[in-house]
Amino acid sequence: MTAKEALKRNVQERVDSIKDKIVEIAKYLHQNPEIGYEEYKACELLTSKLEENGFELIRRVAGLPTAFKAVLRGKSERPKVAILAEYDALPGLGHACGHNLSAASAVGAGIALAKLMPEMNGTLLIFGTPAEEGVPDNAGGKVVMLDEFRGLDAAMIMHALDRTTVVCQSFNREALEIEFIGKAANAGNAESSSKGINALEAVMIFWHAVNSFRLLLKDDARVFGIITEGGVSPNIVPDRAVTRLQIRVEDVQYFQEVIEKVKNAAQGAALATGATGNIKKYANTYVNMINNLTLADTFAKNLTALGVPVEKLHRRGAATDMGNVSHVAPAIHPFIAIVPRGTPWHSIESAKASASPQAYETTIKTAKVFGMTAIDIFTDPDLAGKIKEEFAQATAQQ
Ligand SMILES: [Zn+2]
Repeated sequence: MTAKEALKRNVQERVDSIKDKIVEIAKYLHQNPEIGYEEYKACELLTSKLEENGFELIRRVAGLPTAFKAVLRGKSERPKVAILAEYDALPGLGHACGHNLSAASAVGAGIALAKLMPEMNGTLLIFGTPAEEGVPDNAGGKVVMLDEFRGLDAAMIMHALDRTTVVCQSFNREALEIEFIGKAANAGNAESSSKGINALEAVMIFWHAVNSFRLLLKDDARVFGIITEGGVSPNIVPDRAVTRLQIRVEDVQYFQEVIEKVKNAAQGAALATGATGNIKKYANTYVNMINNLTLADTFAKNLTALGVPVEKLHRRGAATDMGNVSHVAPAIHPFIAIVPRGTPWHSIESAKASASPQAYETTIKTAKVFGMTAIDIFTDPDLAGKIKEEFAQATAQQ
């Protein structure tokens, strides 16, 4: 057995020895769901576990109260390998995107690798990255933290899903809020209502306009949203109405075209009703994922070694702030199956599945694969070089 093989076996045994702790983390997060930028309990638990295991903790990274960076140095500074954790939940649904498993696998891998770092070259970093879901204002913690990821030799994150595929196809995403301001008046009285301007009608005309083009969009481009404010009382002409929407498009140029179409629809609705329309971005723009195939291949081989079948198919239509990370460092965003194929995501079913024995078993396996992949990079300068070379080529083309 080579030294590398021994280390890889060792990290698997270490993960097995802290199995219960990993499951406890995943369960605790599932039972205490917190939405983006409010993940205080999660952040407290994850940072304390890492600190207990010898990591140097930097809290409030990039001014975000629920972001963190945990650092453990080996025999040398490079290569720098990062495992990222997500831990935000969805409003009303809890952990229906399985981010509790993302955090548990990352921290589990960190703890298992901690004792091995003195034997290896490189630095291990575990990042706590809040607000991946486009829920709160300024969502997209990784975009806010982006400078932290520049210059890393590898960045990895786990995401649960209904299939296992290491290469992730994710789209550009814009999150917009459109506010229409009208004029209040008594809705039940013609003399009064004739002086009003109905902001809710502007929102509805806006969505009719969007509906008129969105079924004609090409390349799986999506526009979807909700009405967040539509007036305060039926007998008052709504003087303010607000809609929030997201736009997901793969091609960068077409992405800009679809954003323009949406803005035109808002202007048209404002003109038609006499309301004033204000458009703002409420979350950070997510960009497409550049998958580092050398890193993906290494990760996939380790999954296969543990008996997890890997699909070659790419998933279409995701959008993640890991995409932004992939433009500044070699990165992968593997999806790992925790439910049967076809189970709807962001649903009651996926929330339940994120606390299932199968999900926990998958999380433990992923912690092992993170550990094994990190060891591959720490112990093999050629591999680190190849990952870097591919990244340089891929970003030069962008
Ligand atoms: Zn997610």
